[in-house]
Amino acid sequence: MNAPHWIAGAWVGMPSVDSIDPATGEPIGQFAEGGTAEADAAIAAARHVFDRTTWAQDARLRQDVLLAWAAALDTQRESLANLLTRENGKAIAQSRGEIAGAISEVRYYAGLARHVAGHVLEPEPGTISTMLREAAGVTAIIVPWNAPAVLLVRSLAPALAAGCTAIVKPAAQTTLLTAAMLRCFEQTALPKGAVNLVNETGHATAERLVESHDVDVVSFTGSTVTGKKIVAAAADSMKKLSLELGGKSCCVVFEDSDIAAIAPRLARAATIISGQQCTAARRVLVQASRVAEMREHLTRALASLKVGPGIDASTDIGALIEGSACDAIDQTIARACDLADRVLLRGERSGNAFLSPTLVEHSDPQTFFCQEEIFGPFVTLETFETEAEAIEKANDTVFGLSASVWTYDGARAFRIARALRNGTVWINDHNKLFAEAETGGYRQSGLGRLHGYDALADFTEIKHICMPAGVADGVTPLR
Ligand code: NAD
Repeated sequence: MNAPHWIAGAWVGMPSVDSIDPATGEPIGQFAEGGTAEADAAIAAARHVFDRTTWAQDARLRQDVLLAWAAALDTQRESLANLLTRENGKAIAQSRGEIAGAISEVRYYAGLARHVAGHVLEPEPGTISTMLREAAGVTAIIVPWNAPAVLLVRSLAPALAAGCTAIVKPAAQTTLLTAAMLRCFEQTALPKGAVNLVNETGHATAERLVESHDVDVVSFTGSTVTGKKIVAAAADSMKKLSLELGGKSCCVVFEDSDIAAIAPRLARAATIISGQQCTAARRVLVQASRVAEMREHLTRALASLKVGPGIDASTDIGALIEGSACDAIDQTIARACDLADRVLLRGERSGNAFLSPTLVEHSDPQTFFCQEEIFGPFVTLETFETEAEAIEKANDTVFGLSASVWTYDGARAFRIARALRNGTVWINDHNKLFAEAETGGYRQSGLGRLHGYDALADFTEIKHICMPAGVADGVTPLR
């Protein structure tokens, strides 16, 4: 198993850097190390296809390519899920779900490829204004390691559907899975160079892609810290940016909820991908009259989740992405436990990169662990008395990615959902994402939207073509 670069349709570069299975600490393959030279070659290839071929105009070809890619991915569904678990550590059921979701999303955008529609107006008599939605150009897609299949697809599929060409830069931890997915394009009519792949351990390639004046769009999923660097580095070229960044999801639980029934669901929402999902439940805000039950049931639910190798079908919480990240998260959690009003459950660090969940109860939402994204199995329990207090506490954050409201009172659920400043709010559920439904961040959780039609629109420019056609002979202008 290896991952060279893929540039202009050729697999190039000698794989030399180990990709590690976080469950064992052992290498499972190697990837090629790239830099600015590979970035420049990939940009040139993508530019050539965009500027010199009819790719951007040929919607039917793009649909055929996307459908064939989905079919090829489908034949490798199980081996891709296995590779995802081995390279990322997540539980195999989650990997299977992610690959299935990715394939479904490719098919969704294959359909939309044939409906990149503009509109036509006559703003004054005899003047025809055509608004064409055109592909924005060459897109750099920078992907994190936590959900490398679906986060790749939700940028690449709408970019290709819109008529863009692309350079993919995966995270160093998940290069093998990315290469395996892109290899499936070889069974399609994708023009050589329409999609390219450059791997790297550092950030030189990614920085070149962001700074380059030959790249028109950057679609980035990752941390808010890196997102801010990208905004600054892209300023000179003023390219379009789509940024899907960090979050600190609140679950607001009202007193009419069935606490015993929802606590296990909150525990799973908090520990999905070992707590390494941007939308994972991080803060449980429960109405004060029910806090004792929530304390008991949530502690029990989190403690009952099985930690172990993701490849074992009975595992709920797999390894974190790597040993060093696991140590850093564990140290942050230790600091949080020192400050928290009450530690209800303290997770244990074990093996190469395993960490069981921690739950703390706390009253001051300003404390660092209620504010900062801690990318691991760590949850806070807080209380509120009134709706107004719940909204104030939930909105007291720089993030705005997602949240959930738990109540049987439909009107209240909708009212709170409207008041929460988040791109997604679930009612009596958490972490449900669909190819069809736009997702993205308010405030420092990002710019733009992915999934849905709006994601495709983010990879387009609107061109106004104005034609004074005049009015027909015998027709009198009124003014
Ligand atoms: P990260 O920001 O460290 O890295 C993400 C990607 O950016 C990697 O490919 C990395 O190589 C690249 N990168 C790093 N420095 C760069 C630079 N200076 N210029 C350009 N690219 C650079 O994030 P991570 O730790 O890999 O992923 C976890 C983060 O991603 C969390 O904050 C999580 O919330 C966020 N995330 C957000 C969403 C969302 O939909 N909003 C989804 C998944 C993950």
